[in-house]
Amino acid sequence: MSIDEERLSGPGWPLKGGRPRLTRVRPGLWSLPLPLPGPPGDVLVYVLETDAGPYLIDAGWNNEEGWAALTAGLRALGTRVEDVRGVLVTHSHLDHYGLAPRIREASGAWVALHALDDAALVEFRHHPALRLGALLRRAGAPEDAVRRALDDLAGRSGVDIAPPDRHLSDRERPDVPGWDLTTLWTPGHTPGHLCFWDSRHRLLLAGDHLLPRTKVGMHAPRDEDDDPLGDYLGTLDPLMRLRPDLVLPAHEYPYTDLVTRVGELRDAHTARVATTASLLREGPVTAWQLAGRLRRSGTLAGLRGFPLRATVTRALVILAHLRRLGAAREEPGPPPHWTATPLLERCAEAAFRS
Ligand SMILES: [Zn+2]
Repeated sequence: MSIDEERLSGPGWPLKGGRPRLTRVRPGLWSLPLPLPGPPGDVLVYVLETDAGPYLIDAGWNNEEGWAALTAGLRALGTRVEDVRGVLVTHSHLDHYGLAPRIREASGAWVALHALDDAALVEFRHHPALRLGALLRRAGAPEDAVRRALDDLAGRSGVDIAPPDRHLSDRERPDVPGWDLTTLWTPGHTPGHLCFWDSRHRLLLAGDHLLPRTKVGMHAPRDEDDDPLGDYLGTLDPLMRLRPDLVLPAHEYPYTDLVTRVGELRDAHTARVATTASLLREGPVTAWQLAGRLRRSGTLAGLRGFPLRATVTRALVILAHLRRLGAAREEPGPPPHWTATPLLERCAEAAFRS
């Protein structure tokens, strides 16, 4: 057993001793950590070796540190960025998609993403204040809170990012010679999130869908019919039925026990749904008010920037899920607010737990 394999099978890999490092996961498959400018610190890019050149799953954040780590990592594997043939991106977030266009420029590789996340890339071009303002108003935030949040974004601009070359949808076999990969459409974290299943090695390349420690957030519902949390929960049983030997997430570390992890995630998500159902029974609320009440402090005071956006999004996501279950109704306002349906009045809180 090489040192890398020892680290992989040891508890807490690869966090023991600090940052993760380039690790052989299986013959011809490597985990290559690239640094991120903020938490969670690293993104794990997976390198698949082929006779034609390497293929990458995810690309990392587009800055010089990320680029340097990618080129050094590929060099350590005896190859080069110029040799990359394809980049399969799990989702549109910039810690995953960021470097993909630059890798394509250097190598001529194709870049693939789900069509729904290609559409989400367009939104990154919009000014962040535009996106946040729309979200907060939809959540019924008071106008002074909206203005304060937008002031925080002064000086920021949208990110102009080039689109992928091809789209991947559910149950496709992407063209990676010598590898038996299948795409699995796993919406929730983003509308077009993809996992990849390697049936030969029984590996689930899971992107941000199933991290070993962090419970990732869902994307904001796009319209009245959208239920990102319901979509997410609906992917879990089919993934467990695959019975992977190893789950390879895009952050933190690989792990083997998917059944336990799915149980933890399902419990954590549905516990919040149950709490929200109880709060809704107490009377009409805006998503903004609810977002505060779901916090231990009971308020959104002091929250700014990304944490504020994530907290408000989470409330909208849970409310959209209760709406799908027939338990909540959105009233247009102003401000837009949410009420319990007769069904919710009749249901015990336990009904909303997994
Ligand atoms: Zn990520």
